[in-house]
Amino acid sequence: MKERYFFISNDVETTSLWNHTLSDITGKKVWKEGMPVLLNLYQKYGIKSTFFFTGHIARLYPDIVRMILPHGHEVGCHGLVHDSDKAFDVLRLEEQIEHLQQSKKILEDISGREVISFRAPAIRVNGNTPKALLETGFRIDSSIASQRLDFMFSFGARHKLKWLLSPRKPYFASSNNLARKGTSKIMEFPINSILLPYVGTFMRISPAFTNVIRCILHYENKLRNTPVSFIIHPNELIDEEITKGRIQRRSKNYLKYLLADKIRYRLKLRNLGQKAIPLLEKQLIYFSQRDYKSITFREYYHTHLDQ
Ligand SMILES: [Zn+2]
Repeated sequence: MKERYFFISNDVETTSLWNHTLSDITGKKVWKEGMPVLLNLYQKYGIKSTFFFTGHIARLYPDIVRMILPHGHEVGCHGLVHDSDKAFDVLRLEEQIEHLQQSKKILEDISGREVISFRAPAIRVNGNTPKALLETGFRIDSSIASQRLDFMFSFGARHKLKWLLSPRKPYFASSNNLARKGTSKIMEFPINSILLPYVGTFMRISPAFTNVIRCILHYENKLRNTPVSFIIHPNELIDEEITKGRIQRRSKNYLKYLLADKIRYRLKLRNLGQKAIPLLEKQLIYFSQRDYKSITFREYYHTHLDQ
């Protein structure tokens, strides 16, 4: 029987979902409160996972990186910063290289391990990103959500239309488009979606519909051996006080502000904090009961390089 894979990955950053802003104080809560919850759950279910840290949070609290090392999880890179005006689809090639070099060095200095896996902040990439990744020694990317439809609910939606035709199983990407197969040395790990994504945010917004997506993904695995991938953020598991009265406006376009800032913010508050923990545990139980093997992206990459 073929091995069944379940990839769970974590984006570790200073985003405060409660206040729709970046905050170093939130980063500290992520380290002290969110991360221990994840590590305990992964230990309980024998899960090996990949953690993508921004260079910013790693520099602020280096122990947030060190704490995962004894558990055998992988240290990956989530860019240098998470500001939407510095996303990879707006940075020039040289700037992408600069951000990758800096964040890789921060993470490698702290962990003492080579970092080869990347997920772009807000999964925003462009045609230069594969080049920038190759030049800075990365070999793995997980920033493409195959068959996910975002409409205008997120930033960079124009580039994200490429997702509709991207492959569903891990593949080597093209050297100018991570959403297509090609001959580059970058292995792409698609983020699973059935129009809607299988991720923590959607799990909280609609637990019932998430169960449906999960069943379909499991069925797809039985049929085609497609690995299942799930993303969670430790900042989804912390409670914070709402201190901001106004929602930060990131776009001049009113419709975009309404969809990508206001409505999205309201939706993202559902089942946020402690309430998300049992929902997450349900996902882990589901796959552990069905004999999925959860390994890091790096482990999969090394075992499948020659196949
Ligand atoms: Zn992120």
